[in-house]
Amino acid sequence: MGVGTFILVAGIIGFIIYWLFFREPEKGERYISEEVKRKVLERQGGTCALCQEDRTGLLEFHHKKAVSLGGTSEAKNIVALCPTCHSIKSRYDNSK
Ligand SMILES: [Zn+2]
Repeated sequence: MGVGTFILVAGIIGFIIYWLFFREPEKGERYISEEVKRKVLERQGGTCALCQEDRTGLLEFHHKKAVSLGGTSEAKNIVALCPTCHSIKSRYDNSK
């Protein structure tokens, strides 16, 4: 087995290991559908749920009740926040 083959095999194995263990999986429950995003934006009229600033196009989606705590990705559990409020809120949630 030449060096070239070895590097190729090692590369493929490395990639498979990465794929199996380190790839961000499609998080079923965390996934927010386009339909839900549209509903949330409509409900809030393009403004941030916390600071009420108009941030159309910049809003990020946040689970009111974390998925790890049983929250769902339905519109009633999702709020749209501006990047600033989202980072503050995430920090707050994580510190609880
Ligand atoms: Zn905000």
